[in-house]
Amino acid sequence: MKKNKVPMRRCVGCMESKPKRELIRIVASPDGEVLLDLTGKANGRGAYLCPDPECAAKAGKKNAFARSLHINVSEEDLQRIVREIGAMIHTNDQRTNRE
Ligand SMILES: [Zn+2]
Repeated sequence: MKKNKVPMRRCVGCMESKPKRELIRIVASPDGEVLLDLTGKANGRGAYLCPDPECAAKAGKKNAFARSLHINVSEEDLQRIVREIGAMIHTNDQRTNRE
């Protein structure tokens, strides 16, 4: 088996580079909505975040979504993303830390 290089992406919240599959992709929909791309296959510009609501909040504070996705992110959208990431982590709780 050949060893593949792990694709790295940078979290727009904490600015750390991590393997792409460990990050959550955030995309801007054509109508300017910010969505979590859980399949990794959604079209459009993407930004990456750690699976951590704090990184989402940080990114929001810095306006990082607006910068990476070239759209305006309302406070409401941001809150929703933070919540969705929080919910996601809960769902994944049983299978974390098995690196
Ligand atoms: Zn992060």
